[in-house]
Amino acid sequence: MIYTVPPSVLKLDGDPLEVDKPKVVIIPVKQRADKPVIEGIVKKLDEVSGGLVSKSAETGLFKAKRGELYTFPLNGKIFLLAGVGKGENADDYRRGLAKAAKQVVDKHEEVAVELSGLNAEFSNEAMIGFLLGAYMLDHFKSEKKAKLRVVYHHGEVNLDYVKPIVEGVYLARDIANAPPNDLYPERLAEKIKDLFSSLPNVDVEVFNYDRLVKEGFGGIVNVGRGSKYKPVLVKIHYKGGGKKIALVGKTLVFDAGGIQVKPSHSMTDMYADKAGGAAVAGILWAAAKLGLQIDLYGLLGVAINTLDGESYLPSYVIKMWDGTKVDIGHTDAEGRLVIADAIAYAAKEIGADVIIDLATLTGAAVVALGPLIAALFTRDKQLENTFRDASEETGELIWPLPMADVYKPLLTKNARLGDISNVGGRWGGAIYGALFLEKFSHGKKFVHVDIAGPGIGGGEASSIAPEYWPGRHAPGYGVRLVISVLQKLATS
Ligand SMILES: [Zn+2]
Repeated sequence: MIYTVPPSVLKLDGDPLEVDKPKVVIIPVKQRADKPVIEGIVKKLDEVSGGLVSKSAETGLFKAKRGELYTFPLNGKIFLLAGVGKGENADDYRRGLAKAAKQVVDKHEEVAVELSGLNAEFSNEAMIGFLLGAYMLDHFKSEKKAKLRVVYHHGEVNLDYVKPIVEGVYLARDIANAPPNDLYPERLAEKIKDLFSSLPNVDVEVFNYDRLVKEGFGGIVNVGRGSKYKPVLVKIHYKGGGKKIALVGKTLVFDAGGIQVKPSHSMTDMYADKAGGAAVAGILWAAAKLGLQIDLYGLLGVAINTLDGESYLPSYVIKMWDGTKVDIGHTDAEGRLVIADAIAYAAKEIGADVIIDLATLTGAAVVALGPLIAALFTRDKQLENTFRDASEETGELIWPLPMADVYKPLLTKNARLGDISNVGGRWGGAIYGALFLEKFSHGKKFVHVDIAGPGIGGGEASSIAPEYWPGRHAPGYGVRLVISVLQKLATS
């Protein structure tokens, strides 16, 4: 990991009510008819405590609503009951346990999580929720707050599944939230190279600025040229065999809007304009550690879009990697230029069967779907369904928007001199972005995921987001969703 290492997870030998350590025991509790369900270990705890749980239920002190917590000391231990509501789906467990994690992460070094009696899916997802809830980005503070080091679990948790997923999300969060003076493009590339060198079957290749210029990556070069921190393209290749799939991530380490600078209030969160590439790195990490049978490529177009004498200008006509001439209608529509080069490279040089991009591309996607739901664009019905199933399973929300041919003429009509323009009409900007990118996929199966809302998180999202999101920070959206998609594609 780049900054934040998840707590270790170990199996607890014995009943957490009886073993001496750890002193903190977290128990998920379901709810029926507005009351906690007192069965299994909760019943045992109720008996040992002289009816503490049932009395709390009678008095309405603890109802086991999802996200409700109830803490009490007993026999030298601290018990933390975590309401999971009806406990009918994985998200009930993920969210309930994440809330408990937030309660203990800065107070205790070791805790036990009681998961016996849960089915395999709920046990795994409860542990994932707990560990994601325990994420604290402390790296940049002089005094670290996170204390939690070891999580013991009692029950059946498949750590070969849980750990890679959690590490992938931590990695995506670390990258997405990093300040641009720390992870500028070349530094980010180096860190990724170092990190992935520990994995067998993974190669990382970094295309530096000179190489990008020489090989004609006009989109990446023009967007990134105005920063003293020059742009790079990072190619991660996990050789898992099977279908060839390429993931492309928009990785704007910072987006000031370029010469057509953003208003200052819209610029604050733009360190997280790299959330797409951050997710792609996290997905590659998780896929390799899970050993998925996929020949998987990750391409991160990494740049800083800022103002300088060298910056590209509106009215430039730039030549993209595949030869397309693009009129620059606006310098803040830069993400599509950076990833279009990578998409074309994935189609023509790598020859991927499927290309999926993740990008914090348009404010229009947030206007359409709000801060918690990503926009899904694809012409492939089967892939659309796969994404929707994966969304349902992971709780990472997505909704389809159309690749609407009716707007396609704008691609050429808006171009003053070149072949196409990087800006569409006043309305429907998310659709135009998707149509623009699709052009560079050269007939390959193509999926565009606009994560401008859930990729960045924070703001309005933090008060309604699931408990396993890290408050004001970018949540690493897309890692669990796309891993679930890849698992389905690997077996289909
Ligand atoms: Zn922009």
